[in-house]
Amino acid sequence: MLFPESQFDFSRLMQMDACTRCGQCQEGCDAYTGEANTSPRYRLNLYRRWLKSQRLPRILAALVGGRRLKPEQVESLTQGVFRCTMCARCREVCPVKIDTLGLWYSMREELVARGMYPRNLDKLREGVDEEHNVYNYPNDERSTWLDFMDDAPEDVVGKPAADVIYFVGCVASYSPAIQSIPQAMAQLLVKTGVDFTIMGEKEWCCGFPLFSAGMGQAASEVITHNLDKVKEIGARIMVFTCPSCFRTWREHYQQHLPGVKMVHSTQLLEEALKRGGLSAGRFPHKVAYHDPCDLGRNSGVYSAPREVLRAIPGLDLVEIEQHGSKSHCCGGGGDLEVSDPDLGTAISVNVLGVVRNTGAEVLVTACQQCKRMFLNAEVQSQTGIKVMDIAEVALEASAGE
Ligand code: SF4
Ligand code: SF4
Repeated sequence: MLFPESQFDFSRLMQMDACTRCGQCQEGCDAYTGEANTSPRYRLNLYRRWLKSQRLPRILAALVGGRRLKPEQVESLTQGVFRCTMCARCREVCPVKIDTLGLWYSMREELVARGMYPRNLDKLREGVDEEHNVYNYPNDERSTWLDFMDDAPEDVVGKPAADVIYFVGCVASYSPAIQSIPQAMAQLLVKTGVDFTIMGEKEWCCGFPLFSAGMGQAASEVITHNLDKVKEIGARIMVFTCPSCFRTWREHYQQHLPGVKMVHSTQLLEEALKRGGLSAGRFPHKVAYHDPCDLGRNSGVYSAPREVLRAIPGLDLVEIEQHGSKSHCCGGGGDLEVSDPDLGTAISVNVLGVVRNTGAEVLVTACQQCKRMFLNAEVQSQTGIKVMDIAEVALEASAGE
């Protein structure tokens, strides 16, 4: 079997029983609106009750806190489980170290298996099934972003063999607002002199949106396909500008590709700057760095982006009050754009307000989804803050050399 089942199990129930109901997860949750079902504490405790009432004989369930939920409570819980960005901030602040993120995944899987989930999420599954991308767009248009570049690198799409594969991901491939990220990354790869390819239509969705939706079992076809293509190319390194693709490849593909190194763009850029394979140039601006959840908390990459930014002369790096493992979420994770887009927008607007307190002129992130969310927030908030990906900053700085 390609991936392990992560259905609800006894150890998860033990974790839920360890919850002291202190509420720190609720305080730390950017998605908590004051409505009960956006509270992680509320969801955890209701779900624990619900599962016990489902799995145990009625008298025993009642003895261990498994009183049956009212239909409206089941409805509220079902909606609430999908009103979460899966950012893991609650896990970081929990004083008894409950793996809340693991619980949220289990809850989604369990509810999807029972047919209790927002039906909009089926569009993601259909897109991945039919066209192998979340938008259900023709997959042979996956690398059309190259057509909009003045100086597009030639002959990099679909090379039969290469040292490095740049895996672009669905969002940056198709979303016009952030296609500047793969455009910048492709130019940076040319500057570093590495032998790289972009898989084009042979690149299929990594499966991340399905795992997020609790539909991970539907990802086996895309994973098998992607693995086969990478083996055919024989690359030594895979680089990702999308932290969610990066995380998914490390968690679900790496074990099948032991000789392939998986790196995020920030790690590749850090290494290139250190060995002199890329000139730092200048970027004379005050910059705040936003840690993407799937790069920071969920992959443990905090220093590489900061090292890249610190290596650029003129760049004045400031920290957002909550950063690193306590970083806010942009509002764009957990498929929230599909299940509750207004909540995602509200989160991004709030967080951009926090960034404004730093006095930064530029908000830099290292994730296409964060950039999309903050660009939309900026349209609403008009803070005057410019939103950029770190690859764009590195390219703009190096262009001045
Ligand atoms: S922070 Fe941890 S212990 Fe406290 S309510 Fe949340 S899950 Fe329970
Ligand atoms: S994962 Fe993030 S959005 Fe979801 S409950 Fe935890 S802190 Fe809130």
